[in-house]
Amino acid sequence: RATGKVYPASENGQAPFFSGTMLDITERKQDDQRKNDFIGMVSHELKSPLTSLSGFLQILQLKAGKASDSFTHSMATKSLNQVKKMTALINGFLNTSRLGTGKIQLNKQSFAIDELIAETLNDTSLIQDTHSLIYEPGGHVLIEADRDKVGNVITNLLSNAIKYSPKGGEVKISCSAQKGMATVKIKDSGLGISQADQDKLFDRFYRVQSLETNHIAGHGIGLYLCAEIIQAHGGKIGVESELGKGSAFWFELPIV
Ligand code: ADP
Repeated sequence: RATGKVYPASENGQAPFFSGTMLDITERKQDDQRKNDFIGMVSHELKSPLTSLSGFLQILQLKAGKASDSFTHSMATKSLNQVKKMTALINGFLNTSRLGTGKIQLNKQSFAIDELIAETLNDTSLIQDTHSLIYEPGGHVLIEADRDKVGNVITNLLSNAIKYSPKGGEVKISCSAQKGMATVKIKDSGLGISQADQDKLFDRFYRVQSLETNHIAGHGIGLYLCAEIIQAHGGKIGVESELGKGSAFWFELPIV
């Protein structure tokens, strides 16, 4: 970013000069790259112990089930669910570190987005009793996209809607088709986001700094990841929000 003023040529015919401040972004870029490499390396290293842990827990769950040890069985099941969540997080981090480097690949197939939403809502990681999730399906909409990655986007937006709205809140998800585009909208009645923050929300590592959000854990990469995935499909992503009233995140993807 540069700010300043260009002065006209001086009377003695010397070249005009530029006065002001220049911010060198090279350092910031290198910093981002270092963070990126670090995230990639750590995520990669965590993957194999997690795979083993998941395997051991599955054996424990099976054995406890056979011996009808319901306490051990339920503990093993709970641990397995947490390991699954952690694996999903780590895969997300790994994807993020690959984004922007051209290493991410889309595995496109044609599928019904309304079915994917219904499936995602049944996913154990989203099931909780603190918020009501309401689905307003808008008919059968076929799209051609990377099903897993679009699923990640929906999961991410839904878990944010839950995370950034008070207990007892309602989260509505809808899907509609218009002018060759499928639109998915996730609306909460939570904290809301100011206009200034909305402009930076999809930047990597960006998190809103406020008394209401400071105690909520996060890394500021979920929305960045969502935007990269949607844009890689030639789609659009955005948010409509008012501070204190709630937010509606939406994305659109071309229909087949
Ligand atoms: P994280 O939640 O890990 O911080 P995200 O990239 O998913 O990262 O979100 C970036 C920021 O956007 C969050 O820190 C939060 O401040 C804000 N945000 C995201 N979703 C919502 C929402 N539904 N309501 C209010 N604020 C949100």
